[in-house]
Amino acid sequence: MESKFEGNFTQQDAIPEIAIERANEVLRSGRLHRYNLAENEIGEVGLLETEFAKFVGSNYCLAVASGGYTLSTALRALGIGYGDKVLTNAFTLAPVPGAIASVGAIPVFVDVTEKLVIDLDDLEAKSKEAKVLMLSHMRGHICNMDELLSICSENKILIIEDCAHTMGAKWRNRWSGTDGIIGCYSTQTYKHINSGEGGLLVTDSPDIMAKATMLSGSYMLYDRHPAGPDKTYYEAIKYQTPNISGRMDHLRAAILRPQLHDLPIRIKKWNERYQILENGLRGTSGLKIVERLEGENYVGSSFQFLLLDWSQNQIKSVVNGCSKRGVELKWFGDAIPYGFTSRYDSWKYVQSEAMPKTDRILSGLLDLRLPLTFTLKDCELISSIIKEVVQKSIDAS
Ligand SMILES: *Cc1c(COP(=O)(O)O)cnc(C)c1O
Repeated sequence: MESKFEGNFTQQDAIPEIAIERANEVLRSGRLHRYNLAENEIGEVGLLETEFAKFVGSNYCLAVASGGYTLSTALRALGIGYGDKVLTNAFTLAPVPGAIASVGAIPVFVDVTEKLVIDLDDLEAKSKEAKVLMLSHMRGHICNMDELLSICSENKILIIEDCAHTMGAKWRNRWSGTDGIIGCYSTQTYKHINSGEGGLLVTDSPDIMAKATMLSGSYMLYDRHPAGPDKTYYEAIKYQTPNISGRMDHLRAAILRPQLHDLPIRIKKWNERYQILENGLRGTSGLKIVERLEGENYVGSSFQFLLLDWSQNQIKSVVNGCSKRGVELKWFGDAIPYGFTSRYDSWKYVQSEAMPKTDRILSGLLDLRLPLTFTLKDCELISSIIKEVVQKSIDAS
């Protein structure tokens, strides 16, 4: 009998009890709106912002309604609008080009490498085309940030970092999200801390944070932002900045704070699981591990590998073979996007040139989630199933 994996790839771990208790306190208070505070109360949202700013060592933090909202707010805060071009990764998730399109700007896609990071040669070649790079650390893969920063500073390109998969990761000793001018994080269920929906935006610039805060819908209550800049920064912009409501509420912030506190432990657990897969699959013939760069301190909340230059049918046979044994692989090479596997050429509202280098990588790219509900034994089983199915497929061809 062939072994079968019985776990569920979309089942996240439970919200900690202490977070549920805090959420109940918020519900009992009736004060859910972030600006609805009792006298001298900072509130869960303000506390979360203060704690997250401290966690990554940024001057300011703003909590909002989603990760995608942080990205569009970041663009607006930098004055990006109709007809402006914005460089971004060809391999990313739909909310990234979506945020660019939402302000009327035009995504210009940059190739992906076999390490699943932005292709710095292609970035350099396109560096004259835009003033902003929305850099997506897609699936938690971080490029050589020192080289990227030098290309961007030479070409006066501002960087917005999309850290949906790198909350808690670092390049060398620098927190992901603090190398660019703005760092954006998601707290959606499938990311590193879970409030269903939510986002966090960090920056060291008081002017940018004042704008982002006004944009998020602060009415004239910006003095209720303990992790925001001094009131004086709002004077010149407060009647000039549109309110595009996208605030976070106390309920979600209450759920997030204990999870942020536990993030280092969660990261350790993810990386143990990731390394079981990496070690288990390394050396499988025909299968390429996405090797991490030396300066990368990643969070292994999902795992990718490449069946580079395999035929479409042969990859399909691996996906089906794994699926039969309970292992759900997502394939970025399918002609039709399923769930989150859309790619630069699925976003038909963007006119992109053909990108053969990226096509080659994505057509061999397989992806799986590693929720913390999986045990280490589960990960060993998943790894052995993938290995067997890949070997069988090679033997059969
Ligand atoms: C999840 C995600 C986002 C933000 O998504 P939301 O669902 O809006 O929170 C942005 N970029 C990437 C790469 C993501 O995976």
